[in-house]
Amino acid sequence: EVVEFNRFFERIIDRFEMSKSQTVEFIRLLPEQTYFVEIDTDKLTQVIDNIISNAMKYSPDGGYIRFGFTVQDTFLKVMISDDGMGIPKENLTRIFDRFYRVDRARARSMGGTGLGLAIAKEMIQAHGGQIWAESEEGQGTTIFFTLPYELEDEVGEWD
Ligand code: ATP
Ligand code: MG
Repeated sequence: EVVEFNRFFERIIDRFEMSKSQTVEFIRLLPEQTYFVEIDTDKLTQVIDNIISNAMKYSPDGGYIRFGFTVQDTFLKVMISDDGMGIPKENLTRIFDRFYRVDRARARSMGGTGLGLAIAKEMIQAHGGQIWAESEEGQGTTIFFTLPYELEDEVGEWD
């Protein structure tokens, strides 16, 4: 399905923003120009939902979650960042492994199965993109993923 990525992303952010009970601020850094991507919208929604839920889980009260994307060659580069506890450097790639969770204490208190990012990685790769994390311990975490975008607006151009 070809969708306008800006709108698709904003809808998901809106849904979290309307239902959140935490005192976390959302900051949107989205381009004015519209971009189209060919995606499985259910799967991409699941991916983004998990990344945002993780960001919320690890956000302190009064924290900020930033949402943005930029264009790099033929890809959109999407980023979701929080200023939570962060992830140690040596675990940055392992968080995308099945059932991997950074520490048991964290896992116990936060719930979840440790599958979210493993599924996200499979889905992003199936869409021809990549996903990775950058983090500074005690400062926060940013999850990035890329998606190839459609160079032409193919939606409704001729009908
Ligand atoms: P599930 O998503 O299945 O409910 P989960 O959230 O623990 O469980 P993942 O989403 O795969 O699993 O995340 C894997 C681990 O990576 C988490 O358990 C956590 O230790 C770490 N992690 C993920 N996102 C963040 C983040 N934004 N800040 C700090 N740690 C994170
Ligand atoms: Mg998760």
